[in-house]
Amino acid sequence: MRNQRLYINTIGCQMNVYDSDRIARALEPGGYQQTHVLDEADLVIVNTCAIRAKAEQKAFSFIGRLARMKRQNPDLLIGVGGCVAQQEGEAILSRMPQVDLVFGTHAIPRLPQIVNQVKTRRIKVVDVEQSDGIDEIDLAAGFHDDGQVSRCLTIRQCCDNYCTYCVVPYVRGAEMSRHPDRILSEIETLVRGGVREVTLLGQNVNSYGRKEGLPSFAELLERVNGIEGLHRIRFTTSHPKDLSDDLMEAFGQLRKLCPHIHLPVQSGSDQILKRMNRRYTHQLYLDRIERLRSIRSDIAVTSDFIVGFPGESREDFEATLALMETVAFDSVFAFMYSDRKIAPASHFKNKVNEDEIKKRLQELLSTQETITMRKNRALVGTFQEVMVEGNSTRPGLAEAIDDGPQWSGRTPGNKIVNFNMGRKVDPEDALSVGQLVEVRIEKAYAHSLRGGLVRKEAPTGCPGGKDCHAA
Ligand code: SF4
Repeated sequence: MRNQRLYINTIGCQMNVYDSDRIARALEPGGYQQTHVLDEADLVIVNTCAIRAKAEQKAFSFIGRLARMKRQNPDLLIGVGGCVAQQEGEAILSRMPQVDLVFGTHAIPRLPQIVNQVKTRRIKVVDVEQSDGIDEIDLAAGFHDDGQVSRCLTIRQCCDNYCTYCVVPYVRGAEMSRHPDRILSEIETLVRGGVREVTLLGQNVNSYGRKEGLPSFAELLERVNGIEGLHRIRFTTSHPKDLSDDLMEAFGQLRKLCPHIHLPVQSGSDQILKRMNRRYTHQLYLDRIERLRSIRSDIAVTSDFIVGFPGESREDFEATLALMETVAFDSVFAFMYSDRKIAPASHFKNKVNEDEIKKRLQELLSTQETITMRKNRALVGTFQEVMVEGNSTRPGLAEAIDDGPQWSGRTPGNKIVNFNMGRKVDPEDALSVGQLVEVRIEKAYAHSLRGGLVRKEAPTGCPGGKDCHAA
């Protein structure tokens, strides 16, 4: 009998990408092998995200399209997981009769039994029960090298912050940290399998270990930094109120910790921050940025913004634009506010009109575009350590430059760099994915940089610090 094929559609954040890996790993012993071809699938799982209305709509529209596949192949199983499943439970079965199983974020380890029940008893199953502990699935145990040099892993689940626009604390349950030994052993296995960069994930990594009396996040980073063979460490997401001195100092001390922080601010107006229950002021945010830059002057800072939160006046929005100019972010993600039905802000008065929200979003994005271009142009002429991720896929690039193969990778500050081998290097002499090289930046674009290879080893394997040509 051939292996069963599993197709997973992951919607939303990096944490969902990690959860999709856990789903695949949980189902593997039962004979499910992942495929990237939807038509081949025996089981389709949609791993949903409830943070924004758009992500939820995307999930439901994909599930809607699966109805036709199910009519053509009644043996096809369709499962819905993630935050929307956790939030909606049984209601998904009434709304989408083609769905066979609905499982919450805590039910991933129980998936083999759930799928088995659906198959053998020909029933529909809903499992959205939350557990008190962390449901470990050892991703590393059966890890096989799939050529990816950069992997994400969750170190902290859920969130206790209760920002008024967010559903995570309601659907994902209480905050929980994984034990450092589990995290370290997982990373060590990934590194043995060829991984060179890890991104540690959590809704709020800064509060790692606090509740459980485990080592702090800065201490965890120090231990990860000691793993031989690992080149780079990144993490996301940080909450400004929980950014400790130790963590900020880690950027000056840990050689492998990339000088990049994603620090969502959401708004530059104190009255909006208060209504969002973010528990910091714009001044505290600016102080944190100043301190980070005093420790690591080249640190890249990125952020998230919500535009048109209920009660946001023109003045509040202008405070956001002013903060963007002061900080000069490297890039930002900006979202139009949308009501999430179980989040408190959905009951707030003074909703901002949708046309006005769209106008503000455009204004914010164009302000950021100017800032990003300015920052990218400032890198022209510098030497950057780049971790090779593969051949450059930018259309037309190979034809435009005739001095060797084109490659792409990222700087420590997480900027995408497309580069050519340069005339001094034998064009046949291929680079390998995961290798650290030194590139001179020659051109800046809105979303990437272009440069030429200087040498096939970065000076010290440093993340752009004092030993780097760039400093
Ligand atoms: S910090 Fe706020 S926005 Fe982020 S997951 Fe927690 S409640 Fe949601």
